[in-house]
Amino acid sequence: MNRNEMLSRLDAEKEWDIIIIGGGATGLGSAVDAASRGYKTLLLERFDFAKGTSSRATKLVHGGVRYLAQGNIKLVMEALRERGYLLKNAPHLTSRQPFVLPSYSWKEKWFYTIGLKIYDLMSGKLSIGKTRLLSSKTTQQYLPAIEKKKLSGGILYYDGQFDDARLAVNLAQTASENGGAVLNYMEVVDLVKDNGKVKGVVAEDTVTGKAYTIRGKVVINATGVFTDDIMQMDDDQLEDLVSPSQGIHVVVDKKFFPGDHAMMIPKTDDGRVLFAVPWHDKVIIGTTDTPVQEPVFEPTALDEEIAFIFRNVNRYLTSGITKKDIKTVFAGLRPLVKAPGQKNTALMPRDHTIIVSKSNLVTITGGKWTTYRKMAKDAIDNAVFASKQERRQCKTETLKIHGWADKKTGNEVLDFYGSDAAAIQQLMHTDPALKEKLHPGFAYTKAQVIWAIQNEMAITIEDVLARRIRLLFLDAQAALDTAPIVATMMAAELNKDEEWIKNELDHFAMLAQRYMIH
Ligand SMILES: Cc1cc2nc3c(=O)[nH]c(=O)nc-3n(C[C@H](O)[C@H](O)[C@H](O)COP(=O)(O)OP(=O)(O)OC[C@H]3O[C@@H](n4cnc5c(N)ncnc54)[C@H](O)[C@@H]3O)c2cc1C
Repeated sequence: MNRNEMLSRLDAEKEWDIIIIGGGATGLGSAVDAASRGYKTLLLERFDFAKGTSSRATKLVHGGVRYLAQGNIKLVMEALRERGYLLKNAPHLTSRQPFVLPSYSWKEKWFYTIGLKIYDLMSGKLSIGKTRLLSSKTTQQYLPAIEKKKLSGGILYYDGQFDDARLAVNLAQTASENGGAVLNYMEVVDLVKDNGKVKGVVAEDTVTGKAYTIRGKVVINATGVFTDDIMQMDDDQLEDLVSPSQGIHVVVDKKFFPGDHAMMIPKTDDGRVLFAVPWHDKVIIGTTDTPVQEPVFEPTALDEEIAFIFRNVNRYLTSGITKKDIKTVFAGLRPLVKAPGQKNTALMPRDHTIIVSKSNLVTITGGKWTTYRKMAKDAIDNAVFASKQERRQCKTETLKIHGWADKKTGNEVLDFYGSDAAAIQQLMHTDPALKEKLHPGFAYTKAQVIWAIQNEMAITIEDVLARRIRLLFLDAQAALDTAPIVATMMAAELNKDEEWIKNELDHFAMLAQRYMIH
């Protein structure tokens, strides 16, 4: 996957069958779907793939236990089915994760056991493990940091886990391998219309400043919390559809939450669920649900959100996590679709919404990472219908995602690359200096930086340290310390000068501050 090649395709193509705005889960999924059906497909992303919400998830491939409690059976069934497909189609990026729900009263224990048994039964043939009641002793074994006083037991259940930003990059590669073109750092600034119908976009390459007028038979708006900006380019009288809701996570060392099991706290003091999940040898704890007026592309965690997480998680843990233990904190914005009369974002629907405007702009928003494939299928079906193109069968239910590999070797870093791991090893073989670690505390190597530039369209330090490898999301200080090495390597590889290095380092230092606690 190479950005210059994508740019030449942009110059050469007169009209695309389908243009997609937005390179998060929804847009990338749509690009894979459209390209694999054989439509001439173009995806444009303003920043980097998964720069928005799609790199800031809890990293669960799940049906959503909480939605079951809310009675949203259809959504849970659909998500459990999609969980099954994703675990099969991207085994290198996903895994089966055991969860324990600790319980301090027998009544609660039975209530949740029945609920989680139903949750498992609903996954049918795609079940990934049986729900089981645990004694207090086994619960303590599985969750060594759990508060033992009055612990009555726990419930063991299974869900999926994944690396969100790496899945996004692999989806971009899958779209490209199926004939699609995907471009990061290409911002859509306007829509092109012929006789009142949307027939393309005006986009600006934010690297070179060059503007493009790009024509397409249909345009899909998959811009997450920025959905309304594009809809209002189409019709400036429209009221906002999306109500953004912020969720944050804190990341701490595993010593605060040892073991391989994740924990689900069933009821926080605002009546939601909270997770503590092992991820890349750290633990992610979250999340919150805070209504936001105006979406921004780099949201910041609020003090009250951090206090909320500590207050709730420390009721269950003996390790007593405090602010100084946080390695990184990250915030994301859910693109929730407004429900009439509903102001509480925690109660707004989590299913996806598709709107085809009078001028044929197809907007898709809402949903979650787990259901990206189904959302993409629905978006492409609608886009093809609206633009009267020949209907072709969706293929993504069994389509293998780039990097697919059926075996993991146990290599904590390279396993996430699946079938690409061999090529990265070959880089290290050819140039042994690339075996060097980027940071003494992490197994990431210099070879991964070269790989990200040459094959994954990384063009900034942030692309490498936030999304191609996940250091910024694991330890913000370590990411900051690593930035100079990455900058030097990138400058050499991309032919950039000292000024570029300085600008990049300044930008990254500012960004990393947002992920640190002060
Ligand atoms: C805190 C939190 C935790 C979550 N946890 C989970 C989880 O564990 N499991 C799960 O399944 N789901 C989870 N979700 C939901 C999931 O992350 C989102 O539903 C999903 O990432 C949304 O993807 P998207 O593509 O719609 O939006 P985004 O990822 O935001 O993508 C939209 C993209 O459009 C781009 N864009 C905007 N304007 C323009 C323009 N003018 N031109 C070009 N590009 C543009 C943006 O830069 C952005 O990259 C979570 C969400 C949050 C907030």
